[in-house]
Amino acid sequence: MKTRDLFNRKTVLSFEVFPPKKTSSIDIVYNTLQELNGLSPDFISVTYGAGGNGSDSTISIAADIKNKYGVESVAHLPCINFTKENILDIIRNLETKGIENILALRGDLNPEVMPKNDFKHASDLIAFIKENGNFNIIGACYPEGHMDSGGIISDIQNLKIKVDAGTDQLISQLFFNNSYFYSFLERTKIAGINVPIQAGIMPVTNKKQIERMVTLCGVNLPEKFIKIMEKYEHNPIAMRDAGIAYAIDQIVDLIAQGIDGIHLYTMNNSYIAEKISNAISSLINIEKITA
Ligand code: FAD
Repeated sequence: MKTRDLFNRKTVLSFEVFPPKKTSSIDIVYNTLQELNGLSPDFISVTYGAGGNGSDSTISIAADIKNKYGVESVAHLPCINFTKENILDIIRNLETKGIENILALRGDLNPEVMPKNDFKHASDLIAFIKENGNFNIIGACYPEGHMDSGGIISDIQNLKIKVDAGTDQLISQLFFNNSYFYSFLERTKIAGINVPIQAGIMPVTNKKQIERMVTLCGVNLPEKFIKIMEKYEHNPIAMRDAGIAYAIDQIVDLIAQGIDGIHLYTMNNSYIAEKISNAISSLINIEKITA
């Protein structure tokens, strides 16, 4: 199934997982998937070597999500370190495994890896996939603007180029202040971007994790959020519970505002995904009334 078809029925809830590090057992991610599967997400996406190092297991995990667990899957695909030939091989492999959805990305620039020059922006990859296959293509978007964009206006103009290149739906970078997401939605409307946009939500469970995210993604932290981190940073259980409560609070507000869907960055933590899913299940399972 192409995940874009889900949006006219209900508020979509999806999860993101990442392949295990080379030093960890693959069983860990399969145990997580088993538990996530029980939560009936609309789809699960699998990251691809964040940092641009590549990961062979992305495709096999995405194939197993779909073919063994019966849940729709999305394979992430960053292009900056690949040639056109590499990408063709990957998309043929995805087709063979029955995967219909790709999250097409540029990937983060890694100072230690010289980028290949075949794809400069995600929009180049999206146009290439469109030309060479029949996939549902998802793009990334940034409610607070992407760090390299030179400003919110040029970022939206670039997003419009990406959508016009063939993006079927968008998933946002994480954010902790919903007002950024609402302002971003306004800008997309003005720019004529009409594809479904899911809000990316990351439940924060430790202070180090959030400090890394702020450096990596440049997201703003609201005062309320900073207070929680300061108060509970030395109490992991309280920090975890406060992080879950904060994410639920964000999601309840987003759904009440009628957004298209939620994409939960699970960090392979099924306990947290379960707590959040259970808290919001009655809100997302309301079928959309079609005229
Ligand atoms: P682009 O859309 O190419 O944008 C990158 C920058 O270039 C932006 O500043 C944009 O404004 C600008 N730009 C875009 N098009 C043009 C144009 N035509 N002309 C001029 N400027 C332009 N990374 C991974 O390595 N693996 C993953 O699995 C992964 N998953 C992700 C999932 C989500 C939901 C998100 C939000 C990000 C993910 N990332 C992942 C991180 C992503 O690769 C980085 O944020 C990267 O820096 C940008 O990728 P992009 O696809 O948004 O790039």
